[in-house]
Amino acid sequence: MENKFAERARLIKSSETREILKVTERPEIISFAGGLPAPELFPVEALKDVCNAVLSEEGAASLQYSTTEGYIPLREAICQRMKGIGINSTIENVLITSGSQQAIDLTGRLFINEGDTIICESPTYLSAIHAFKSYNAKFVEVAMDDDGMVMEELEKKLQEHPDTKFIYTIPDFQNPTGRTLKLERRIRMIELANQYDVLIVEDNPYGAVRFAGEELPPVKHFDTESRVIYISTFSKIFTPGLRLGWICADESFIDKYVAFMQTADLHTVSFAQRMTAKYMELYDIEEHITKIKAVYKERCTAMLSCIEEFFPKNLSYSKPEGGLFIWVELPEGVDSTHIFIECLKNNVACVPGVPFFPNRTQKNTLRLNYSNMSKEKIIEGMKRMGEVLHRELEK
Ligand code: PMP
Repeated sequence: MENKFAERARLIKSSETREILKVTERPEIISFAGGLPAPELFPVEALKDVCNAVLSEEGAASLQYSTTEGYIPLREAICQRMKGIGINSTIENVLITSGSQQAIDLTGRLFINEGDTIICESPTYLSAIHAFKSYNAKFVEVAMDDDGMVMEELEKKLQEHPDTKFIYTIPDFQNPTGRTLKLERRIRMIELANQYDVLIVEDNPYGAVRFAGEELPPVKHFDTESRVIYISTFSKIFTPGLRLGWICADESFIDKYVAFMQTADLHTVSFAQRMTAKYMELYDIEEHITKIKAVYKERCTAMLSCIEEFFPKNLSYSKPEGGLFIWVELPEGVDSTHIFIECLKNNVACVPGVPFFPNRTQKNTLRLNYSNMSKEKIIEGMKRMGEVLHRELEK
C-alpha cells in the first residue's frame, strides 16, 4: 500500500533521533541524547492547585471549544513577557499553538512553495528540517562560528539564492550547538533581510533560559519592517507536556496562520491554556524560571568540566550560556555514528550530529544534553564517554 502515499510522504523519514532515543531509554544507559527538560522541576504541586482553581472558577467553559487565536489572558501574559525582552506586541500579533513545533510546521505550510530556498544555520534543529522538507523546501546552510551564523556567509548565500523565502534562525543557545548569535549579527541579519527582501523565522525556545553572560534582545526586537516571525514556547520554562507555544508576527500574517490552524486542530488545547494563564496569575513564573536556570547552570558547568578532565584534547566544543546543549566537534574524518555505537556499548549515549545538517555534510560532530541528568550521572556518563573517545581518537 506504500504507493498510496502522497509524494510528500516520501520526503521525510521517521526521525533518526527518535529511533536513537528509543535505544537510549534502556535503564542501564546514562543518556545525554535527548533534549528533555528536568522533570523534577515541573511545578506538579502548584499545578494541582491551578487545575482545581480553573475547574472551580471557570467550570464547563474551560472544557468547551474556544477561539483559534487562543485564550486572551494567556496572550496578554505572553505580550507582557515579550515586552520585557524588547518585543512590542498586542494580542492581535499572537497566536497560541500546540508547542512551537506546530508553529514551525504552520510556517512551512504558509510560506514554502515547492523548491523555495530556506537559509538556516549549519547545523540546525532536526524537526524544523523535517517540517520544512515536508513542504519540499531546499536548504541552504550558512556556516556558524562561536558567535552564531556568519553574516558574510549569509550575504553570499542571499546573493546566490534569490528564491530564498526565509532565514530560519535559532539565535539563543541554538539546538544543537548551544551557540548564541552575537548582538551585531542580530542587527546585521535584519539589515540583510530588508535588503534582500526575505523573511526571518526566529525560533526562540531557549532565550529565557540564560544562566550566564549578558541578556541579548531577540532578533525580532530589531525588526523594522514586520519581517520577523517570532516563535517561542512554554516547553523549556514551564512544561513541555502541556504543549503550549506561540507565534508573534504581523497581524496580516497571524490572520493567515489562524486560517491554517482551523484546518489543523481548530485551536490549541484550551484547558492547557487556562491552566498556564492561571499559573501565571497565582504563581511567579519568573521565580520558577530562576530555579530552572540555577539547575541547568550547575549541570552545564559540570559537563564542561568533565570535557576538560575526561575527553581527549584534540576536539573542540561549545560553551553555552544557556539552553540545554553542548556541541562537540571531533577531529576531521571521525564518524560520530561509530562513536555513538561504541558509547552505547559503554552504557552512555549522545546524538551523532549528522542529521542536524540538512544536507548531511558533516559527520564528526556530537550533541550532548545536560538538562535531564543529575550532576552525579553527568560525571559518571562523561567518564564513560571519555574512555571511548580516548580509545577511538588515539587509535
Ligand atoms: N524549536 C527548537 C529549536 C527546539 O529545540 C524545540 C524542541 N526541543 C522546538 C522548537 C519544539 O518545542 P515545543 O514544540 O515543545 O515548543
